[in-house]
Amino acid sequence: MPEFAERLRRLPPYLFAEIDRKKREVRARGVDVIDLGIGDPDLPTPPHIIQALQKAAEDPANHRYPSYEGLLAYRQAVADWYAKRFNVRLDPDQEVLTLIGSKEGTAHMPLAFVNPGDVVLVPDPGYPVYAAGTWFAGGEVHFMPLRRENGFLPDLGAIPREAARRAKLMYLNYPNNPTAAVATRDFFTQVVAFARRHGILVCHDLMYSELKFDGFEPPSLLEVDGAREVGVEFHSLSKTYSMTGWRLGFCVGNRQAVAGLGAVKTNVDSGVFQAVQHAGVAALTGPQDLAEQYRRTYQERRDIVVRGLRALGWQVDVPKGTFFVWAPVPGGLDSRAFATRLLEEAGVVVTPGVGFGPSGEGFYRIALTVDQARIAEAMERLKRLRG
Ligand SMILES: *Cc1c(COP(=O)(O)O)cnc(C)c1O
Repeated sequence: MPEFAERLRRLPPYLFAEIDRKKREVRARGVDVIDLGIGDPDLPTPPHIIQALQKAAEDPANHRYPSYEGLLAYRQAVADWYAKRFNVRLDPDQEVLTLIGSKEGTAHMPLAFVNPGDVVLVPDPGYPVYAAGTWFAGGEVHFMPLRRENGFLPDLGAIPREAARRAKLMYLNYPNNPTAAVATRDFFTQVVAFARRHGILVCHDLMYSELKFDGFEPPSLLEVDGAREVGVEFHSLSKTYSMTGWRLGFCVGNRQAVAGLGAVKTNVDSGVFQAVQHAGVAALTGPQDLAEQYRRTYQERRDIVVRGLRALGWQVDVPKGTFFVWAPVPGGLDSRAFATRLLEEAGVVVTPGVGFGPSGEGFYRIALTVDQARIAEAMERLKRLRG
């Protein structure tokens, strides 16, 4: 058996594997563990979407290889949704591509545009796929620190000239995992100017655009003038409609970028099961009442966490989006030691910020993916731990 290739061996150690191991240990001791670490919705996929899948699964026309770019009906539903939600007009033929979940697309994009030695600008802390996809393509990652004093937006002015000159792609993600920060149209305007100046393709991961609170409407990068010349956006049905297991997403925006990603995909996969794409049409065009109810549920959970932490005298910002709460580690413990203590002494799992990159140190992430009673119980346990 040969050794693993360099590209696997150079990946940083996966902190989350260590957390999983500790979690199992504590559970094995009989502790009732409350897991606030999982970024996967606990709420079920709405029934009308499941019914659309069942119906489409029975049609033999859907049993064959799908087209590479995806069903036109699905791409049209995506274009219609963008028009309605963001007032952005997309050509379903050239500006929309079906993905096997947005993770797949974000991971593959560097293969289309990054040569060995090219730089990719990646947020730190951030979703680990942006860096891994870059390394797999032979690119170098330049991390852009996200700092609280800057609203967890990257400081574009602080990107070294040399890194900007060599950069081919920039990844962004707002509403943001893990910091739960949101971006404004103003920020995206600056991003577009920066990207034009340096000839960079902006890859905006818009995963959490529909998990929005308090009336805030997360903008699309593509709303900004000129964005279509320099940017694409990734989105999926995973989080909005509790469909993480279904594997259905899309990439929209710049034609050249969509074509490049499509060319990569043509050579590595054969598209998404058409029945799943029909279900996707049902999700995007059908009733939105359950999605709306889920949003309210996450907001209620968020409020329980924010109230709970503040009652302990722990600092926390109120997130306007995502199903995460990102908070500074109280008392100056490092984030791993803090997470270990919460697990060992309270049976509560939180994710140490450093797991998302060095600039995540000093913070921890709570996922709002367990029910209100369990979240309230977790807050009670933290109170007892402190008292
Ligand atoms: C959950 C998540 C994804 C993965 O989405 P899929 O469509 O299920 O692949 C991508 N980006 C971020 C930031 C996420 O949190």
